[in-house]
Amino acid sequence: MTTEIYFLDENNIDFNIVDRAAKVIRNKGTVIFPTETVYGLGASALSGEAAGKIFTAKGRPGDNPLIAHVSSMNMLLYLIGSPLSDSAVKLIDKYWPGPLTLIFKKSRKVPYELTAGLDTVAVRMPDNKIALELISRSELPIAAPSANISGKPSPTLPEHVIADMNGKVDMILCGSKSRVGVESTILDLTGDVPVVLRPGGVTLEELKNVLGSVKVDRGIVGGSETPKAPGMKYTHYAPDADMVIVKGELENIKKKIQELVGDSIEKGLKAGVLASDETVEYYRNCRVISLGSRTNSKTIASNIFEKLREFDSMGVDIIFAEAFDESHMGMAVMNRMNKAAGFNIIEV
Ligand code: AMP
Ligand code: MG
Repeated sequence: MTTEIYFLDENNIDFNIVDRAAKVIRNKGTVIFPTETVYGLGASALSGEAAGKIFTAKGRPGDNPLIAHVSSMNMLLYLIGSPLSDSAVKLIDKYWPGPLTLIFKKSRKVPYELTAGLDTVAVRMPDNKIALELISRSELPIAAPSANISGKPSPTLPEHVIADMNGKVDMILCGSKSRVGVESTILDLTGDVPVVLRPGGVTLEELKNVLGSVKVDRGIVGGSETPKAPGMKYTHYAPDADMVIVKGELENIKKKIQELVGDSIEKGLKAGVLASDETVEYYRNCRVISLGSRTNSKTIASNIFEKLREFDSMGVDIIFAEAFDESHMGMAVMNRMNKAAGFNIIEV
């Protein structure tokens, strides 16, 4: 299929192009668009046929439900099966538009393909003007998972999307680099206590401030339990290179990684190190990329997927990654890194 590709400026949007894209959505086609988390691969959330095209383009397993993106409260109310709880109202007030996906009981208008047969629906309002214009001009909620080939690092730049998806979708709207850089936090509001099903752009600390008590689904921490968000059980975010995470005191991490780099070179492998501003000068005989300063977990989050893809373009065989602190955005960063490494973690 031929993919139409357009470049848009979020602060000076060419609405003719957005209207063209909205028409594609209404005609049950696929449009990739920028959001503040990562780029999304969108299709009508109210058509099973349209949502099905997303699974085909990404090679996504059919039992992994999609998030519906809305631009108004009316669109949200159309999708959900019961009135908004007090917790939902508080969270929406504070974090929408923004990187927070809420899980509700679904209404009967939601097609089977969107929720993979679950009786709940995931909804969020993205904080990007191009995305919001596309949704409101389509007059439809838009189902949109990350616009990468299933299993690969999520796309945060136009070139990532074009590399993965050119020829597989009807249209790509390119904007700027995704500001948050990791996906939305998914919070299940259907039980007695809200449960984080995926850490993301809104932190656990922030949610506790608003709600008091919040649980974290044990399935996402890497144990043997099955995660409640079906997508969290799959291998994800993986670069082509093998990846190993080294965890512990920073001085020990540095020494261990340099030793592992030495071992790899002896085996004839090209090694890469995913480091931080504080450690980037330390490593020798390998490709080194910094994710940013350890004191700024937001910057680290905004760079993680981009830097994983950069190692692949350098042709590195094995990536050794420093572990980061898991507070604030660090929780989402380490969740993505652990999954990218297939939980291949060395503790020092
Ligand atoms: P993506 O948009 O690629 O980040 O994937 C969406 C994520 O949301 C996946 O991990 C899904 O399993 C999860 N998800 C979507 N709908 C639901 C739902 N109704 N209940 C639990 N998780 C969901
Ligand atoms: Mg994804």
